[in-house]
Amino acid sequence: MLLLLLACTAEEAAPTPPVPGPPGPPPPRAARAPEPADPASFTAGGKGGPNVLILTLDTVSADHLAHWGGRVETPVLDRLGGVRVKKAYSHFPQTAQSHWSLFSGVLPEVHGNIPANGASVYAGPSLAEIAHTRGYATAAFISGVTLLDGSCGLSRGFDVYDDELAKGSTERPAAQTVAAATAWLARQEGPWFLWVHLFDAHLPYTPKDPKRYDPDYTGTLTGTEAALDLFREGKGTPPARDLEHVVALYDAEIAEMDEALAPLVAQIGGTDIAVVTADHGESFAHDYLFNHRSVVWDDVMHVPMWVRAPGLANGEVAGIVNLIDVAPTVAALAEWGATAPFQGVSRLDVLMGKGGGAERSWARTDPWIPSMPGTPGPRLGEHTPTSSTIREADGTACRYDLTTDPEELHGDCSAPAEELWSAYQEAVKSMAPRQRTIEGGGQGNPMVPGQMLESLGYVDPALHPPPGPPPPGR
Ligand SMILES: [Zn+2]
Repeated sequence: MLLLLLACTAEEAAPTPPVPGPPGPPPPRAARAPEPADPASFTAGGKGGPNVLILTLDTVSADHLAHWGGRVETPVLDRLGGVRVKKAYSHFPQTAQSHWSLFSGVLPEVHGNIPANGASVYAGPSLAEIAHTRGYATAAFISGVTLLDGSCGLSRGFDVYDDELAKGSTERPAAQTVAAATAWLARQEGPWFLWVHLFDAHLPYTPKDPKRYDPDYTGTLTGTEAALDLFREGKGTPPARDLEHVVALYDAEIAEMDEALAPLVAQIGGTDIAVVTADHGESFAHDYLFNHRSVVWDDVMHVPMWVRAPGLANGEVAGIVNLIDVAPTVAALAEWGATAPFQGVSRLDVLMGKGGGAERSWARTDPWIPSMPGTPGPRLGEHTPTSSTIREADGTACRYDLTTDPEELHGDCSAPAEELWSAYQEAVKSMAPRQRTIEGGGQGNPMVPGQMLESLGYVDPALHPPPGPPPPGR
């Protein structure tokens, strides 16, 4: 659905024609227009400013990229120049909630259970709303089913929210999304705010060239859901050589995604600001394979980040930058003078090589999925510059020294974590005045093709009866 939000109300949103026959999604109904931010919650600080690109590479772990110690070179993205943030962290290992944190600058439990609500309970602004208020042309080009506006309500502030996927498909290839985005860019005459979301690295791992990083593989395992579902469900582990091959397929998709970005990167320069990052990574360890949504291990929460802007020297910086820091940092780089109830802060000091950085990064698994016997409850993770701590729902916790144990294999499970828990809860509760109840929220969203989300592992009907929005202060 292509949303032209300025002219679109809930009544005017025309139903998409029903899809004939299986295997297409069920006939969708009209989407509710996402409730915009409370105008009193922010000031845009004026009009105009430099162009801004937010580029998100869904499901790309930092440690697979050459700049972060992996093998995947990124020659196209490197043409952007600017700063590489060595320690950037996500707060939630699922797509919609993580992107909401990136654009709003607040923690996941503040903006709410997006897939169930179809919108956010957060009354503050997204970065796009601030840009829109400043008179920017704003557009988003989406590549994955988990960010359909009907399921996440992220179109707030965007003139154009292009989430059109091929019928029956869960994703749009990078080249197609980039072509749509660059065509829109070519039509812009004033300042623009552009979000491009690429989904290629997400399961299935099906690169055009499966032999790119594994030319000698003679086995039969592929990167399709059908081939990997058994392992994703924890019902076995592939032989080491096969696992190695699947990782090679994933890496090849990242490399091909970089190549597909060439037409977009060619249009970025001058005073343009660009932030490139990921919503979360992917797990290939800890007996949790080819997935991401239930864990907060470092390989899932540590994401790559490039920031390109005038005045930022090429190179890399060490301080922690959280995804909730992106919105206030972009606002500062653009010198907007905007005010908003961000929980993140501007990290210009880190980007300019002046030191600093977040002391900690919080990560959470889905607190809205009811726990069942034998399944883990929601986890809370904390990353510091040198350690990680993972707290289980029963209060037990293990701490890992990332300087000596980067794979998080040898934790100290005697370490108390109540200070971590209480500090996190306090941070969430402090934002209760910024939350609101959404009419009709918590009933699931009619625009979400449920079986598509199930195929990606996002919805388990047995574990996911329709939950309500989190109560204020949760
Ligand atoms: Zn994602």
